[in-house]
Amino acid sequence: LDLARVSVALPLGGFLSRARLPILMDVSLSVGRGESVALVGESGSGKTTLARAVMGLQAVSGGSIALDGQAVEGAAGHARLRRAAAMMFQDATASLSPRLTVGYLVTEPFRIHGVALPDPEGMARELLAKVGLPPAMARRYPHELSGGQARRVGVARALALKPRLVIADEPTAGLDVSVQAEVLNLMADLRAEMGLAYLIITHNLALVRHVADRVVVLYLGRVVEKGPTAQVFAAPAHPYTASLIAAEPRPDPRQRRMDLAIRGEVPSVLRRPSGCEFHTRCPMAREVCRVTAPDLAPVGAGRQARCHFADQRKDQQGEQHAVEH
Ligand code: SF4
Repeated sequence: LDLARVSVALPLGGFLSRARLPILMDVSLSVGRGESVALVGESGSGKTTLARAVMGLQAVSGGSIALDGQAVEGAAGHARLRRAAAMMFQDATASLSPRLTVGYLVTEPFRIHGVALPDPEGMARELLAKVGLPPAMARRYPHELSGGQARRVGVARALALKPRLVIADEPTAGLDVSVQAEVLNLMADLRAEMGLAYLIITHNLALVRHVADRVVVLYLGRVVEKGPTAQVFAAPAHPYTASLIAAEPRPDPRQRRMDLAIRGEVPSVLRRPSGCEFHTRCPMAREVCRVTAPDLAPVGAGRQARCHFADQRKDQQGEQHAVEH
């Protein structure tokens, strides 16, 4: 999957009915075969809008989306993409219709796509087995499932048409830590077994460390950092990434880096800050940041960051990481 400078702008409505509000700006990323890429950022960063744009549920106002090197355009293009990619929704229970049995729900994608199914019950059993649920589960209704079981049913549904790419929106949200681990292990097993690629949308950094080969960090609808997960976590080049990592819950509170703590709330997209859009919250901001917007620039092999001081920061972080370990 290749996204090249994808932008999404939504109409403001009311008096300003012609004006459009930019939600995503020039987002480029790719997910290779069997690769796992995480898209991270706080609420309001545009992560879910991006997933919806990929699936054709949200119109794009600029840029292009391609699958297997072929542009995804129009209804036919999106139908091709929806055959190759499946979406796992954030609220697993709410996304399952309460009046349908689990057996019906996991085989529903075949009906939606008009694919004939000679033995729906057998297929339901097969899909449930793939996600570690017993065949008897096929006769249950969504309200009878635990959070973890509902998430597994969501995964089984996503796998029905044998996708090559799964777009997972907050796959562990609302689950206990032990159930989160179960879902993550299931995702990792399915990746190994079926060669699945993942685009994972999350603000759970523990999940990113565990399953993502590469990470893309969004702030106010723009990419502020991207690169291989291990390198980005070891030495984040952008202060926003560093702040997200510093804010992760840790067993020993003394390990929290208060000097990197993020300040305040995400600004409204209606009032984007001047210069670097992160300057109102950045613990490292200097005068130039208020005035001049940084570009997304290379910071070492396969890495990019949008900060005037990214190179310095990455070097300092790298040295510190080496001392700590
Ligand atoms: Fe912070 Fe300035 Fe870098 Fe923006 S450009 S992230 S304000 S140091």
